[in-house]
Order: sequence, then structure tokens, then C-alpha cells
Amino acid sequence: MNNSIIVLGSSGSVGTQALDVARAHNIQVEALTGGRNAALLEAQIREFKPCLCAMADEDAARDLRARVADTETKVLSGADGIAEVIAESKSATAVNSILGLAGLAPTLAAAKRGMRIAIANKESLVAAGELVKAEVRANNAELVPVDSEHSAIFQCLHAGKKEEVKRLLLTASGGPFYGYTTEQLKKVTRADALKHPTWSMGAKITIDSATLMNKGLEVIEAVRLFDVKPSQIQVIVHRESIIHSAVEYIDNAVIAQMSHPDMRECVQFAITYPHRTAAVIEPLDLFKVGTLTFREPDRKTFRLLDLAYRAIETGGLLPAVMSSANEAAVALFLGDKIAFWQIAEVVEDAMNAFTNKHNFTVEDVFAADREVRAKIAAAHS
Ligand code: MG
Repeated sequence: MNNSIIVLGSSGSVGTQALDVARAHNIQVEALTGGRNAALLEAQIREFKPCLCAMADEDAARDLRARVADTETKVLSGADGIAEVIAESKSATAVNSILGLAGLAPTLAAAKRGMRIAIANKESLVAAGELVKAEVRANNAELVPVDSEHSAIFQCLHAGKKEEVKRLLLTASGGPFYGYTTEQLKKVTRADALKHPTWSMGAKITIDSATLMNKGLEVIEAVRLFDVKPSQIQVIVHRESIIHSAVEYIDNAVIAQMSHPDMRECVQFAITYPHRTAAVIEPLDLFKVGTLTFREPDRKTFRLLDLAYRAIETGGLLPAVMSSANEAAVALFLGDKIAFWQIAEVVEDAMNAFTNKHNFTVEDVFAADREVRAKIAAAHS
């Protein structure tokens, strides 16, 4: 079992849960990185005593440096600081729970070092999955999913061979607006959208769950991680969030993974795989659950799921464009600049306006990101 990890994005929801797992199993945390929450990083440094820390935001890094001046932890800053933390650390495992496209460069840096990457950062796989996988292969690194659905599929894939897989059944909670009509979606407010029925998560992913963009990103993530065609992925609305996803094999056997819904199970498995270790989560009580239900998603009303299928079927830079446009649109919605239902519109417009490119580099991904964000900002200033 791994006895040392680095946690990238340690102040986020998955990051703090990764630290819960480290605490429970006495796993040494060699390095931490965060965005701008210096107070939380200070508390984490005092508890876990990492050698290295980096904060994306320069001012926050300065603040943190002053706060932890009495400790042994070296505090770096900016994207370069995060890259240095990854390059200098000796751990074999990186948990990447950075939010958004900002997670791409760290994913590539960890792959370059040949690390196991416990990946919770969807956007790096969505925007540049093939580039990430090439870097992983070239350096004998390893990608292990942390997202609950992909962790479930990863676990179910141990029941058969790759060529025996027929379909992946990707479960979705359906979000807080499950069953809503387009008319009802038009009345949704920011507060309505920030409530999630089952999982406790950050604001961006909570909105993505409400629009079903999260499921769309996960379809693309699954294509990248498991080398299946988009048409082999069936999204299933499963309100209870007990089955975290399933794999259907060619003999029509369906292997599903279940647990009490708690991300820490997935983070723990990604760190300790191929071993299982004592639980940090509560056991699943099927008597308490009673009933499990399954429904088809409404792709006409929740258009972002459809747009995600279109993006991955088209390929090239279109998934990156979709993801960047979504990040920008969610920020506009959280800033009260657009309505909830307009998120899909902003994303679709960005995808339609973009001149796609099929052979691309990491720099092309960042250039597309800048182009898309600039256009959206200009249209909503
Ligand atoms: Mg998920």
C-alpha cells in the first residue's frame, strides 16, 4: 500500500476527503496545493506537515507563507510553483482534485514523473484525454479514477476482460431538477441550483450536476479512461445514488458497484488499489434503502448531456471547447449574469462558433480555452 501521497487541490471537496482518508490510514502527505484558501491550507499544513505546498494565487501564497513561517513547509506559488511541487515530490501517488482546466498541466506533470494519478479532475481528461494518455503511456504512469461512477466502472471491470465489455451503464442522480420541463427550468434560481440531493460537493460541480453537464463530462471521461465508444455508454437516472455505475458484458451479465454514497470510498480505492483497506465510510444498509429506481435521462430538456455526446462523437478540440465554455457559463450564472437555462445556450453557441481541429497540442487546448472564454466574456460584458 502507498504510504505517501501528494494532494493537488487539497482545499476542495475531493481534496479534503482525500485528506480524511490519509488521516484514517496514516498515509503521509508529502505535498499539498491549493487555490486561494490560505486559512484552510494553514490548518492542513499544521496537521499533515507536508514538505511542500503551493498555492495558485500569489497573494494567498504570500499570506500562507507568513502564517506557516514557524513550520518546515516550503510554500511556493503560481502554476510554476505547483509544477515544482509535483517535480520535486518523492511520492508515487498524486491525487488530482484541482477544479477545471487548471488541472491539466498538473496531470501532465504527474504523468511525466511516472506517478499513479488518482484523477478527480475531469476537465483534463475531457479537454486533452488523448494527450494525457500518451504522456501516461510514455512514462509508465497510471491513471486511476476517483469520480464515483468511474471508480465503480473501474471496479466492475475486474469481473471480465476488456474485449468482453458490451456497455457501460453510467448512473446519474438526475440533479435537483429531475423531472422539470423547459418552462420550469427557466424559473430556476442560483439558490435552487446549489442544492444537491445526495453528494456534498463544490459549487461548480453542483451546478454541473443540476444541468447534467456533469454527466456529459463523465461520458467523455469514461470514453477516455476505458477506451469505449460514446454509443457504448448508457446514462441511467438512478435517484438513490446507491449503484455508482455498472458494466454490461457480452453475455448480458451486468456487474454493478454499490456503496453508501460517500466519495471517500472512491478516493481510498484509488490510493490503495489493487488492495482494499478498512472502510472510512459507513456500511450500506440495503434494508434502509429498500427500493432502487432507474429512468432514462431527459436529453431534450437537459441539453448539455446531448451536447457532450456531440462533442465526443465529433472529437478534436470540441470536448475542450465545450468544457471551457461550460466553466465560463457556470461562472456567469454564479455571478448572476445569466439564467440557469442559458448555460446550455452559451455552451452550444461556443461549440457552433468554433473552427474545430483534430490533431492538436496542449498549447492548442489552452489557446482554444482562451478564445472561448474571451468570446463569452465579450458577449456578456
Ligand atoms: Mg461523478
